[in-house]
Amino acid sequence: MARRAERHRAAMVRYLRAEGIADERVLAAMGEVPREAFVPRAVAGAAYRDVPLPIGLGQTISAPTVVALSAAALQAGPDARVLEVGTGSGYGAAVLSRCHRSVVTIERHRKLAERARRTLAALGYAGIEVRTGDGALGAPDRAPFDGIVVTAMAEGGPPPALLEQLGPGAALVCPVGHRGTGTLKRYRSGAVTDLGAVAFVPLVTGS
Ligand code: SAH
Repeated sequence: MARRAERHRAAMVRYLRAEGIADERVLAAMGEVPREAFVPRAVAGAAYRDVPLPIGLGQTISAPTVVALSAAALQAGPDARVLEVGTGSGYGAAVLSRCHRSVVTIERHRKLAERARRTLAALGYAGIEVRTGDGALGAPDRAPFDGIVVTAMAEGGPPPALLEQLGPGAALVCPVGHRGTGTLKRYRSGAVTDLGAVAFVPLVTGS
Protein backbone atom coordinates (compact mmCIF):
# COMPACT_ATOMS: atom_id res chain seq x y z
CA MET A 1 0.00 0.00 0.00
CA ALA A 2 2.73 2.45 1.01
CA ARG A 3 4.75 1.48 -2.08
CA ARG A 4 1.75 2.01 -4.32
CA ALA A 5 1.08 5.42 -2.74
CA GLU A 6 4.71 6.32 -3.33
CA ARG A 7 4.38 5.43 -7.03
CA HIS A 8 1.18 7.48 -7.28
CA ARG A 9 2.89 10.42 -5.60
CA ALA A 10 5.83 10.28 -8.01
CA ALA A 11 3.40 10.21 -10.94
CA MET A 12 1.50 13.17 -9.44
CA VAL A 13 4.76 15.18 -9.20
CA ARG A 14 5.58 14.38 -12.86
CA TYR A 15 2.09 15.56 -13.77
CA LEU A 16 2.50 18.79 -11.75
CA ARG A 17 5.79 19.50 -13.54
CA ALA A 18 4.12 18.92 -16.91
CA GLU A 19 1.40 21.35 -15.83
CA GLY A 20 4.08 24.01 -15.33
CA ILE A 21 4.75 23.88 -11.57
CA ALA A 22 8.47 24.61 -11.28
CA ASP A 23 8.98 25.32 -7.56
CA GLU A 24 11.27 22.47 -6.45
CA ARG A 25 10.44 22.85 -2.75
CA VAL A 26 6.72 22.58 -3.43
CA LEU A 27 7.27 19.58 -5.74
CA ALA A 28 9.44 17.85 -3.11
CA ALA A 29 6.83 18.50 -0.40
CA MET A 30 4.04 17.10 -2.54
CA GLY A 31 6.22 14.10 -3.32
CA GLU A 32 6.43 13.41 0.41
CA VAL A 33 3.09 14.25 2.01
CA PRO A 34 0.76 11.18 1.94
CA ARG A 35 -2.36 12.73 0.43
CA GLU A 36 -4.34 9.52 1.01
CA ALA A 37 -4.05 10.07 4.78
CA PHE A 38 -6.01 13.34 4.51
CA VAL A 39 -9.11 12.02 2.72
CA PRO A 40 -11.91 9.71 3.91
CA ARG A 41 -11.16 6.02 3.33
CA ALA A 42 -14.03 5.77 0.82
CA VAL A 43 -12.24 8.11 -1.62
CA ALA A 44 -8.62 7.24 -0.73
CA GLY A 45 -8.30 5.35 -4.05
CA ALA A 46 -8.69 8.68 -5.87
CA ALA A 47 -6.28 10.59 -3.59
CA TYR A 48 -3.71 11.15 -6.35
CA ARG A 49 -6.08 12.12 -9.13
CA ASP A 50 -6.08 15.82 -9.99
CA VAL A 51 -9.54 16.46 -8.57
CA PRO A 52 -10.99 17.96 -5.39
CA LEU A 53 -12.42 15.28 -3.06
CA PRO A 54 -15.14 15.46 -0.39
CA ILE A 55 -13.88 15.60 3.21
CA GLY A 56 -17.21 15.97 5.03
CA LEU A 57 -19.38 18.92 6.15
CA GLY A 58 -19.82 19.87 2.48
CA GLN A 59 -16.11 20.78 2.17
CA THR A 60 -13.38 19.51 -0.16
CA ILE A 61 -9.64 18.95 -0.27
CA SER A 62 -8.39 21.02 -3.23
CA ALA A 63 -7.02 19.33 -6.37
CA PRO A 64 -3.22 18.82 -6.31
CA THR A 65 -2.58 21.37 -9.11
CA VAL A 66 -4.43 24.04 -7.12
CA VAL A 67 -2.49 23.28 -3.92
CA ALA A 68 0.79 23.38 -5.87
CA LEU A 69 -0.09 26.57 -7.76
CA SER A 70 -1.11 28.40 -4.55
CA ALA A 71 1.97 27.28 -2.61
CA ALA A 72 4.35 28.16 -5.46
CA ALA A 73 2.71 31.56 -6.00
CA LEU A 74 3.64 32.58 -2.44
CA GLN A 75 7.31 32.74 -3.47
CA ALA A 76 8.23 32.63 0.22
CA GLY A 77 11.49 31.12 1.50
CA PRO A 78 12.31 28.30 3.94
CA ASP A 79 12.36 30.75 6.88
CA ALA A 80 8.90 32.12 6.09
CA ARG A 81 6.07 32.19 8.61
CA VAL A 82 2.91 31.44 6.68
CA LEU A 83 -0.84 31.73 7.33
CA GLU A 84 -3.39 29.46 5.67
CA VAL A 85 -7.12 30.26 5.76
CA GLY A 86 -9.30 27.15 5.34
CA THR A 87 -7.54 24.15 6.93
CA GLY A 88 -10.04 21.61 5.59
CA SER A 89 -8.26 18.26 5.67
CA GLY A 90 -4.92 19.75 6.75
CA TYR A 91 -3.21 18.61 3.52
CA GLY A 92 -2.37 22.13 2.33
CA ALA A 93 -0.96 22.99 5.76
CA ALA A 94 1.21 19.85 5.67
CA VAL A 95 2.60 20.83 2.25
CA LEU A 96 3.26 24.42 3.38
CA SER A 97 4.96 23.17 6.55
CA ARG A 98 7.46 21.21 4.42
CA CYS A 99 8.31 24.40 2.51
CA HIS A 100 8.42 26.99 5.30
CA ARG A 101 9.41 27.51 8.94
CA SER A 102 5.93 27.65 10.46
CA VAL A 103 2.27 27.56 9.52
CA VAL A 104 -0.78 28.94 11.29
CA THR A 105 -3.92 27.49 9.71
CA ILE A 106 -7.51 28.50 10.54
CA GLU A 107 -10.69 26.46 9.98
CA ARG A 108 -14.22 27.58 10.80
CA HIS A 109 -15.59 24.03 11.28
CA ARG A 110 -14.42 22.76 14.67
CA LYS A 111 -14.83 19.13 13.57
CA LEU A 112 -12.58 19.57 10.52
CA ALA A 113 -10.01 21.48 12.58
CA GLU A 114 -9.91 18.69 15.16
CA ARG A 115 -9.59 16.00 12.52
CA ALA A 116 -6.82 17.93 10.71
CA ARG A 117 -4.98 18.38 14.02
CA ARG A 118 -5.16 14.62 14.65
CA THR A 119 -4.02 13.70 11.11
CA LEU A 120 -1.09 16.13 11.22
CA ALA A 121 -0.01 14.91 14.68
CA ALA A 122 -0.28 11.24 13.66
CA LEU A 123 1.99 11.91 10.67
CA GLY A 124 4.43 13.87 12.84
CA TYR A 125 4.20 17.24 11.09
CA ALA A 126 5.67 19.95 13.30
CA GLY A 127 5.46 23.73 13.20
CA ILE A 128 1.74 23.81 12.37
CA GLU A 129 -0.81 25.50 14.61
CA VAL A 130 -4.44 24.64 13.74
CA ARG A 131 -6.96 27.19 15.00
CA THR A 132 -10.76 27.16 14.94
CA GLY A 133 -12.42 30.43 13.95
CA ASP A 134 -13.08 32.93 11.19
CA GLY A 135 -9.91 32.95 9.12
CA ALA A 136 -10.99 36.12 7.32
CA LEU A 137 -9.87 37.91 10.49
CA GLY A 138 -6.42 36.32 10.19
CA ALA A 139 -4.22 35.81 13.23
CA PRO A 140 -3.29 39.34 14.39
CA ASP A 141 -1.34 37.97 17.35
CA ARG A 142 1.03 36.18 14.95
CA ALA A 143 1.22 38.87 12.22
CA PRO A 144 2.98 39.98 10.13
CA PHE A 145 3.21 36.90 7.87
CA ASP A 146 5.71 36.24 5.07
CA GLY A 147 2.89 34.73 3.01
CA ILE A 148 -0.85 34.05 3.28
CA VAL A 149 -2.83 31.41 1.35
CA VAL A 150 -6.63 31.46 1.28
CA THR A 151 -8.19 28.14 0.21
CA ALA A 152 -11.84 29.25 -0.05
CA MET A 153 -13.43 31.60 -2.59
CA ALA A 154 -13.71 35.22 -1.42
CA GLU A 155 -16.52 37.38 -2.85
CA GLY A 156 -15.43 40.72 -4.28
CA GLY A 157 -11.87 40.65 -3.00
CA PRO A 158 -9.61 39.30 -0.29
CA PRO A 159 -10.52 40.01 3.35
CA PRO A 160 -8.93 43.39 4.25
CA ALA A 161 -7.61 42.05 7.58
CA LEU A 162 -5.46 39.56 5.67
CA LEU A 163 -3.88 42.25 3.48
CA GLU A 164 -3.07 44.15 6.68
CA GLN A 165 -1.30 41.12 8.12
CA LEU A 166 1.20 40.81 5.24
CA GLY A 167 4.81 41.73 5.94
CA PRO A 168 6.65 44.01 3.50
CA GLY A 169 6.93 42.34 0.07
CA ALA A 170 4.88 39.30 1.18
CA ALA A 171 2.18 37.79 -1.03
CA LEU A 172 -1.45 36.90 -0.34
CA VAL A 173 -2.78 34.18 -2.64
CA CYS A 174 -6.58 34.11 -2.70
CA PRO A 175 -9.30 32.85 -5.04
CA VAL A 176 -11.76 35.64 -5.77
CA GLY A 177 -15.11 35.06 -7.42
CA HIS A 178 -18.74 34.24 -6.97
CA ARG A 179 -20.49 31.07 -5.76
CA GLY A 180 -17.39 28.93 -5.88
CA THR A 181 -15.98 29.85 -9.29
CA GLY A 182 -13.51 32.61 -10.04
CA THR A 183 -9.84 33.47 -10.42
CA LEU A 184 -6.85 32.65 -8.26
CA LYS A 185 -5.10 35.95 -7.56
CA ARG A 186 -1.88 37.08 -5.94
CA TYR A 187 -1.72 40.39 -4.06
CA ARG A 188 1.75 41.71 -3.36
CA SER A 189 3.07 45.21 -2.71
CA GLY A 190 -0.11 46.72 -4.15
CA ALA A 191 0.09 44.67 -7.41
CA VAL A 192 -2.48 42.02 -8.38
CA THR A 193 -1.60 39.02 -10.60
CA ASP A 194 -4.14 36.61 -12.11
CA LEU A 195 -3.02 33.00 -11.72
CA GLY A 196 -5.86 31.27 -13.55
CA ALA A 197 -9.47 30.12 -13.32
CA VAL A 198 -10.34 28.01 -10.26
CA ALA A 199 -13.25 26.49 -8.36
CA PHE A 200 -13.29 26.55 -4.53
CA VAL A 201 -15.85 26.22 -1.76
CA PRO A 202 -16.97 29.69 -0.61
CA LEU A 203 -15.21 31.62 2.15
CA VAL A 204 -17.89 31.99 4.83
CA THR A 205 -17.21 35.00 6.98
CA GLY A 206 -18.96 37.17 9.52
CA SER A 207 -21.35 34.43 10.76
N1 SAH B 1 -6.64 23.65 2.30
C1 SAH B 1 -7.68 22.65 2.43
C2 SAH B 1 -8.83 22.90 1.49
C3 SAH B 1 -10.00 23.20 2.28
S1 SAH B 1 -11.49 23.69 1.49
C4 SAH B 1 -7.13 21.24 2.27
O1 SAH B 1 -5.95 21.11 1.95
O2 SAH B 1 -7.85 20.28 2.53
C5 SAH B 1 -11.77 25.24 2.28
C6 SAH B 1 -11.99 25.21 3.77
O3 SAH B 1 -12.18 26.56 4.17
C7 SAH B 1 -13.23 24.45 4.24
O4 SAH B 1 -12.86 23.46 5.15
C8 SAH B 1 -14.10 25.53 4.89
O5 SAH B 1 -14.79 25.08 6.03
C9 SAH B 1 -13.07 26.57 5.26
N2 SAH B 1 -13.55 27.93 5.43
C10 SAH B 1 -14.49 28.61 4.73
N3 SAH B 1 -14.62 29.86 5.19
C11 SAH B 1 -13.74 29.98 6.22
C12 SAH B 1 -13.40 31.05 7.12
N4 SAH B 1 -13.98 32.26 7.06
N5 SAH B 1 -12.46 30.81 8.05
C13 SAH B 1 -11.85 29.61 8.16
N6 SAH B 1 -12.13 28.57 7.35
C14 SAH B 1 -13.05 28.75 6.38
